[in-house]
Amino acid sequence: PGLLMVQVRVAQVTPHHVLVLAEDLTQARRIDAMRRDFVVNVSHELKTPVGALQLLAETVHDAADDPDAVRRFTDRMQSEASRLSALVHEIIELSRLQVAGAVGQVAVVDVDAVLAEAVDRARTAADAKKVRLDLGGVRGTTVLGQHDLLVTAVRNLVDNAVAYSGEASHVGVGVREAGDLVEIAVVDEGIGIPADEQDRVFERFYRVDPARSRDTGGTGLGLSIVKHVAADHGGDVSVWSQPGRGSTFTMRLPRTTPTPLTTGDTVRET
Ligand code: ADP
Repeated sequence: PGLLMVQVRVAQVTPHHVLVLAEDLTQARRIDAMRRDFVVNVSHELKTPVGALQLLAETVHDAADDPDAVRRFTDRMQSEASRLSALVHEIIELSRLQVAGAVGQVAVVDVDAVLAEAVDRARTAADAKKVRLDLGGVRGTTVLGQHDLLVTAVRNLVDNAVAYSGEASHVGVGVREAGDLVEIAVVDEGIGIPADEQDRVFERFYRVDPARSRDTGGTGLGLSIVKHVAADHGGDVSVWSQPGRGSTFTMRLPRTTPTPLTTGDTVRET
């Protein structure tokens, strides 16, 4: 929809022929605008924790002879600093993923190992909220890609499931094969996402409830990282959700199928 922008170049190639070249500028302009938006958003997001740190440093300075206040404010400085560090880390990760071919060297990746590592890393946050975290499904599926990127993606989904769930609820991580695809599902019984915002949560810095996301230490970049990782692996990610009932995020990836033996192969018996 909207205007199509083309750049037209005309060259006289013979006295009777002209060559007309039309180049679609719409796509180039769109990428340019997205890049500008990203820089504006990043600067805005960085200003909040940096501003808070400045203010807290001044406060600590003024409260130097009150040890309790110093402890309280330096604790807050620490949590602002770790938010800032998470944000910088995710900005770098996302910039890297936005470059085409970011996956680079691919290998056969064991999906079970990816899920086990992602769940393991989310365990501390889950335990702190007494959230039961279960891992189930088929075993032995493999995909072509990068183990670490896939762990990052699944971990973002599990971290969100825990962060947007109540105390003592249940988060399940499951995997199943569906034709040529492997489906990794992260299911929670948390606050859910309103229908009209379900597509938007994959946008950079989009949050349904900015205050809540800030409380949970969220950067607003997690799901756009998941989306990029899925796409870079030839797959996608989608959400099903009902406010008050919970959400299910499903990542679908093409799985590697065992190559059948061809006549050229030799089978050696041992
Ligand atoms: P954040 O760092 O804020 O969690 P994300 O990109 O991971 O950023 O998610 C974007 C927004 O989507 C969140 O701020 C939250 O509002 C919503 N969201 C993500 N996962 C869930 C979930 N499992 N349940 C409810 N809301 C979620």
